[in-house]
Amino acid sequence: QCALVCPTGALAVKDQTDCALDWFDDPAVTTVVQFAPAVRVTIGESIGARPGENLQGRIVAALRKLGADCVMDTRWSADVTIMEEGTELLERLLRQKEEGTLHGHPDTMFTSCCPGWINHIEKNCPDMIPHISSTRSPQAIFGALAKTWLPKTLGIPAERIRSISIMPCTAKKDEAARELLKHGGEQDVDLVLTVQEFAAMLDRRGIDLMSLEPAEFDSPFMSEGSGAAQLFATTGGVMEAALRTVSALAGGPDLGRIAFEPVRGLATFKEAEVETEAFGKLRIAVVHGMRAADEVIRMVREGRSPYHFVEVMACPGGCVGGGGTVRGIVWRSTLERRQNAVYSTDASMKLRTSHENEDVVRLYRDFLGEPGSPLAHELLHCEYRERERRSEKPDYRTIESAVELA
Ligand code: SF4
Repeated sequence: QCALVCPTGALAVKDQTDCALDWFDDPAVTTVVQFAPAVRVTIGESIGARPGENLQGRIVAALRKLGADCVMDTRWSADVTIMEEGTELLERLLRQKEEGTLHGHPDTMFTSCCPGWINHIEKNCPDMIPHISSTRSPQAIFGALAKTWLPKTLGIPAERIRSISIMPCTAKKDEAARELLKHGGEQDVDLVLTVQEFAAMLDRRGIDLMSLEPAEFDSPFMSEGSGAAQLFATTGGVMEAALRTVSALAGGPDLGRIAFEPVRGLATFKEAEVETEAFGKLRIAVVHGMRAADEVIRMVREGRSPYHFVEVMACPGGCVGGGGTVRGIVWRSTLERRQNAVYSTDASMKLRTSHENEDVVRLYRDFLGEPGSPLAHELLHCEYRERERRSEKPDYRTIESAVELA
């Protein structure tokens, strides 16, 4: 059996558990907590459950017990991510169609929701920045809307809100601290806990997750997410979620009702084609681990990329293999169980596509206008900048190298 190691696990991690507990205990603070799609299927092993067991309802109950005021779902903002990123992709495709450059070697667009990948681009491959989607990650989108749309809708002063996220990821802490993701000097997401830190916090407060009755998220508003959003937890999931919406809008097959197998599983480099009425054949690729990502970067640099859209995740398996999910290594069999739990959760959901999420439709109708509007750009998009390299040769480990190490 081989071991898988998350490349971002080596980052220095700032534990803010004490600060989170202080906020939960403070009646003057309104705590708004989001947790990522991967969290519900990765926390199990830390607390004696089966690998991949979906503990969503018990996590909600535990957060209430800790004193959280609003418990909401990052899957909701993942659906918003798809609306913005999908709109960007459609605009790029339309421009290329008008220019006559859509087929052959198109202008490849990369996903942007993985901060491990974005760090790699900014530090090691800044020439790729124009190819990265400007849409913020689901965590960042939730944070921006928790400080703008949520206070307006619930009538809570924005200054009272402390936005906390629970993530499978150490790099999300770094993402939340980015200058561009702050308003008035305050971070949109005030504090990020990893799955491991959350499990330790429950332990400190004597909360046994497995003994709790599952609970529902607070008000469905900012909590109702689709099956497409659940797929964000695994490699290939952002692509599958995006294609469900883009294919529907571009006259392609109805991918919202089927499992799109070409992008599923743990192969490090997957590719597929989707035939659409509006743009003809779209070519896509899905990679995880920086070795595979660097292969696509080389293709783009040399003008050889046949892909319109490429999903990149830094960790082996995507967020289900994130560095915040477990200390040390994640076994491949565990990763497969986590991934299968993601697929079965999606399959069990009635709402499978982001554009059919009524709470997302409501967000645009009542607040943002439409996907890609000026307000959507101000709150839901960002810019990337060349950053100083930490070393000449980044030490990113991928599935292959981890297998060699094991
Ligand atoms: Fe974080 Fe997921 Fe990217 Fe890993 S794959 S760095 S867990 S966002």
